[in-house]
Amino acid sequence: MTMRASNTLRSPAELIGHGLTPAETLPELEKVAARYAVAITPDVAALINPSDPHDPIARQYVPSADELVIQSQENADPIGDHAHSPVSGIVHRYPDRVLFKVVHVCAVYCRFCFRREMVGPGKENALSSEAYANALNYIRTHPEIWEVILTGGDPLMLSARRLNEIMTDLAAIDHVKIIRLHTRVPVADPGRVTDDLTTSLKTDKAVTWVALHANHPRELTAEARAACARMIDAGIPMVSQSVLLRGVNDDAATLEALMRGFVECRIKPYYLHHGDLAPGTAHLRTTLEEGQSLMRALRGRVSGLCQPDYVLDIPGGYGKAPVGPQYLSDENGHCRVTDYCGDVHLYPPSS
Ligand code: SF4
Repeated sequence: MTMRASNTLRSPAELIGHGLTPAETLPELEKVAARYAVAITPDVAALINPSDPHDPIARQYVPSADELVIQSQENADPIGDHAHSPVSGIVHRYPDRVLFKVVHVCAVYCRFCFRREMVGPGKENALSSEAYANALNYIRTHPEIWEVILTGGDPLMLSARRLNEIMTDLAAIDHVKIIRLHTRVPVADPGRVTDDLTTSLKTDKAVTWVALHANHPRELTAEARAACARMIDAGIPMVSQSVLLRGVNDDAATLEALMRGFVECRIKPYYLHHGDLAPGTAHLRTTLEEGQSLMRALRGRVSGLCQPDYVLDIPGGYGKAPVGPQYLSDENGHCRVTDYCGDVHLYPPSS
């Protein structure tokens, strides 16, 4: 079935109508949808193979009754944004940069989202014009802020006109040198990345970077690649962000294809996030040991250009930590280094 671009699926009944989930799931999925937003764009729906019950694209976007299972260690604010929010819309966790949450909606709603309690229609955290002015003032009065990261939600959901106003306001602050936007739009709704939108992201006074969120190589469609190329050709460098997800990309071949795909698009792999302790997401998380083992496998399969940092956002707001794997160890004062095949060598070599 074909759908028009405006025809995003937003309810379990619509998902059932398009064959993306069985009819008998309706009662439980209604409970999930009452708590967490649902949206699947036509581009993403077209990527799903409805006859595959383990489809890795469906797993990211189609709600599941597993989301009703909340573990005790899960938390509505899993990476501790609130602990570092001096004014509404701003998260100031590291000295030289802030998150600026300019919008609370997304083109699609990921089932593992770490801000799932805060994003979506009906969540009351859209930034008022007064809160926007206060946030801007906070950035203006903190000269240590070198980089502003526009996030949300997805900043590319804003109109080109509004985005350009925000970019211009930020770039007018002398100490803001870098403006980074985190987005899933080039994958979820590539037609939205028009020349107008791309132009709106550029300013004379600050450098724009875009971080693309994608988790499976099938998400890098010809249309998504073309959307990224429009931004890169306009002079906007791009990096990637992915989340390690059980049943989506937790095998070396899929991660390899994803990282190669990014590099083919001129997007530098940046982060592979360990799944956050967001409510109802345990079925999508791996263990840290599994993540380390996959990173070790990736090291042997692709060049350094294709290597992301595997990072954990420490619960409580303590920031990101690279979580390995480790290649160096100490033995009786000698340094032992492990090569990509798993063989161990002394450094310096014994004579
Ligand atoms: S696009 Fe980002 S903010 Fe929006 S639902 Fe997905 S992970 Fe969450």
